[in-house]
Amino acid sequence: MPGVVLADGDLLVTVELATVCGSDVHTVQGHRSAATPLVLGHEYVGRVHSLQGEPRTVDGVRLREGDRVVWSIMASCRACDRCMKGLPQKCRALLKYGHERIGGRWELNGGFATHVHLRAGTAIVKVDDSLPAEVLAPATCGTATAWAAVDRADDIVDVDDAIVLVLGAGLIGLTASAMAADRGARVIVADLDPVRRELALRFGAVSAVDPRDPDQLSEAVVRAGGAEVDVVIEASGSRAAVVSALETVGVGGVVVLVGSVFATPSVAVDPELVVRNLVTVRGVHNYRPRDLAGAVNYLHRRSTTYPFAELTGDRYPLSQLDDALAAAARGEAVRVAVDPTAGATSGR
Ligand SMILES: [Zn+2]
Ligand SMILES: [Zn+2]
Repeated sequence: MPGVVLADGDLLVTVELATVCGSDVHTVQGHRSAATPLVLGHEYVGRVHSLQGEPRTVDGVRLREGDRVVWSIMASCRACDRCMKGLPQKCRALLKYGHERIGGRWELNGGFATHVHLRAGTAIVKVDDSLPAEVLAPATCGTATAWAAVDRADDIVDVDDAIVLVLGAGLIGLTASAMAADRGARVIVADLDPVRRELALRFGAVSAVDPRDPDQLSEAVVRAGGAEVDVVIEASGSRAAVVSALETVGVGGVVVLVGSVFATPSVAVDPELVVRNLVTVRGVHNYRPRDLAGAVNYLHRRSTTYPFAELTGDRYPLSQLDDALAAAARGEAVRVAVDPTAGATSGR
C-alpha cells in the first residue's frame, strides 16, 4: 500500500500480533454483513512506526515512535451529540477497525496486516514490553468488553460479594469471570463444553455448570453460599442463554447482555417479573476508552494469576490467514493468532 498519508493526530503502527475474534469468523461465514473489500482483524498489539501531530494515549501521554501500544476497535469524532454525552462507542461518525470498506484515504484499517493506519480519535494505551503479545492482542475487543460488562454490572449491584453467573466461557466470559472474582464475587460459569467448564475453574469460577441441567446451577448457588444470582453476564449470544439469564436473575439483580452481536429470534420479556423483581437489563457493545485502559491495567496486574496466555493457540502467518480463520471457526483454542512478522516482507 504505497503513499499512506497521515492526517493530524494519525499514526502508522507496525502490527506485532493480531488475534481472530468470533466476529471475524461470523463475517467470513456470512452471518454478519460487511462492505468489501476490507481488512478484517480488530484485536492487535503493535508499535508506533510514525505519527503526525501530537497523538496521545487515553491517559494524555504523548506518543513516540517505537512505543508499544494497543488501540481501540474504533475511532470517534469527539464532537457529535453521542460523543459529547459520553458514548464515543456510538459516535455518529464512528470508524471501526476491521469493519470498514477500504478507501477514502484509509486503506490500512484492519489488524490482519503488517501495518495499521490509526485515525485521530482512536483510544490508544501504552503497554509494557513484559506482557506477551498473545495476552495483549485480545485486549482491544474481548478483554475490554469483559471489563465493560463487569463495570456496568457494578454500577447496579456491588459485584464485591455478589453471586455472578457468567453464561458462555469464551474469551469474554472467562475474562469476566476472573475480573469479577478479583472484585470479590463468587462466580459461576455455565458452558455446554466440558473443556471450557474446566478452564473456567482456572479463571476464578467457584463452580462451572452445564446449562442444560438447571439443578447444577441451583446447587452451585447454594454451594457458593448465596440465595440467588445477583448478576448475570450473558457472553454467549445464544438465544436460549438470554432467556435463561432473564429467568435466572434474582431480586434487584442485573442482566448484562454482551454476547448478542448477531441476529437471533427475539426473546419474550415478562414485564411483571422485571417490575416486581426490580431487574435491570443492560446492553454493552464496544466500550469506552477508559474500559480499554482498565482492561490493559488489569492484564498488567493479573495476567499471570490466571492462564490468559493459554487462551491463544497456534500462530499463523498472514499468508495462511484462511487457515487461521478456519481454525478459529473450529474453536479448538479460545483465540487463534495471526503473526504478520512471520515470513513477512518489510513494508512501509
Ligand atoms: Zn471482536
Ligand atoms: Zn462522535
